Amino acid sequence: MRLVRWLVTTTLCVVAGTSNAGAASPRRDAPHNVILVVIDGLRGRIVTPETAPEIAKLRDAGSYFPNSHSVFPTFTTANASALATGHQLGDTGDFSNTIYTARPITSAGSSVTPFLENDSVLGELDATFGGNYLDEMTVLEAARRAGYGTAAIGKLGPALIQDHLARDGATTIVLDDTTGQDGGIPITTDIAAKLTAAGLPLATPSRGANGKSGDFRTPGTTSANVAQQDFFIDATTRVVLPTLKARNHPFAMVFWSRDPDGTQHNQGDSLNRLTPGINGPSTFAAIRNADGDLGKLRAALGRLGLAATTDIIVTSDHGFSTISKQSGSSPAAKQTYADVPPGFLPPGFLALDLAKALDLAKALDLPIFDPEAHDSRLVEGAHPSRGNALLGPDPTHPRLVVAANGGSDLLYLPTHDRGLAASTIEALLAQDYVSGIFVDDALGAFPGTLPLSAINLKGHAATPTPSIVVNFRSASSGCATPTNCQVEVADSNLQQGQGMHGSFGRGDTQNFTAAVGPDFRNRFVDPAPVSNVDLGRTMLALLGLTPPSRGVLTGRVIQEATPGQKSPASRSQILRSKPAANGLRTVLRYQQIGPVRYLDAGGFPGRTLGLDPAR
Ligand SMILES: [Zn+2]
Repeated sequence: MRLVRWLVTTTLCVVAGTSNAGAASPRRDAPHNVILVVIDGLRGRIVTPETAPEIAKLRDAGSYFPNSHSVFPTFTTANASALATGHQLGDTGDFSNTIYTARPITSAGSSVTPFLENDSVLGELDATFGGNYLDEMTVLEAARRAGYGTAAIGKLGPALIQDHLARDGATTIVLDDTTGQDGGIPITTDIAAKLTAAGLPLATPSRGANGKSGDFRTPGTTSANVAQQDFFIDATTRVVLPTLKARNHPFAMVFWSRDPDGTQHNQGDSLNRLTPGINGPSTFAAIRNADGDLGKLRAALGRLGLAATTDIIVTSDHGFSTISKQSGSSPAAKQTYADVPPGFLPPGFLALDLAKALDLAKALDLPIFDPEAHDSRLVEGAHPSRGNALLGPDPTHPRLVVAANGGSDLLYLPTHDRGLAASTIEALLAQDYVSGIFVDDALGAFPGTLPLSAINLKGHAATPTPSIVVNFRSASSGCATPTNCQVEVADSNLQQGQGMHGSFGRGDTQNFTAAVGPDFRNRFVDPAPVSNVDLGRTMLALLGLTPPSRGVLTGRVIQEATPGQKSPASRSQILRSKPAANGLRTVLRYQQIGPVRYLDAGGFPGRTLGLDPAR
């Protein structure tokens, strides 16, 4: 009932074009506690009573959302921003884990293409972009302003994003990888004393063997992230939850489990081979690790007498895929490198291939500079160290910027040169690893491409909007549930056979979502599409909060999960671009409820999992 009443209130606000300046709306009954558990990189269909008994138990007892969606690009900080604000990426500006900031970020080694899973980088981004790089108030900020207890615990980056302006450690309790280290968010003397009393350290343990990614000759890890996550869950159950309970006021908490993501990326089960890929024993140990943490969390809620008054939403930021480094068309794959097996795509292949193609076809001499190596010029036979690249004669005024991310990359044209955009698109269309090109509406329409506005990326963002989003090829490696065995080309320092995400294949967009608690229906399976953006809105509704909105690209409250409500009608749609000269069309498969668009898959038919090859 609470959800429904809130929905009516906010709908009226939106229609009137206004929103409350304050964080809380008056309410008669006290809201319940809300806990969001994000199990990073958990594929939507991988959960069974055998692989993840605690997650399966919650799913089967409460509300399950099998038609769920990550936002594209399917990366962690991007989805963290959607969950944190209830806005699409076009508004939050957190377009991927690595973005172009146009200004050097000191805490990222003065790179203009910083990796955002870093608390210092997030703080500097806030300072660079008007005091709040997301340009929207987060759920946890709205909650603490309204007097709720708040906490964000777990993986470095996405944990702090939940309340990134609360860097004092007192207004919101933050525990992540860098707690107790230089650059970490501090903890209060009260929390420190309680950690010590509980026999826990004051600094987060390292990932140990789990952090080892190996190299092209050495397999990566075979260990799940056990020691570090044991600390996070023990601190949560023995210190944070009792502290929040003792305040005698409802609370909102986010627990972000790095597993299975970190293990799936780094696993050494499949070096240079596509099978088992991310379906080897290390992955399943990592899923089991995260599953055990959920079990401990629920047991603690029971012990503390909070189970009946606490809603738990379990989601994942994105699905996952096995990395392929194969291409028949890439000139970069034909070169030799010191750290790449012969014939495989090197990190930074997109930058290398674009520079070569623009030189050959258009006589554009675009030397490559490496933003992760102090803008040094790339020497013959080398690849960009992290895949990122600044192209053009002057690295301080690049003509083209590649922000490499994995299953998709971002391209920026700082001069907004339409001719260079056309040449770049022509070069992209010639590569067999590309599947789908999305172009900033401001640059105009190009055959073979769809506009950023079609995929929720054109909004109110404070950070630079990418000029072109390039999606890479994906396919099933052959299994009964194709989203469980997606293989994708990825621009990454990891090896073929290790794990990545970020693509527009359904294997990456299909995340896991379920919820249980006093505000959710029991044994309910929702046929309607939902997304991580919706979860942000739904958390606000559960907490009775109406923070101000700057952008309009918001999700919807999942009101059908409330007892007595019906699922909304949705439409399935296909959007096709005009064909390029070589016949390729970017195609988007999506679902729509009212103004909210849910992205199933995008790319060139036959090159993206989830797109009908014939259409
Ligand atoms: Zn990841």
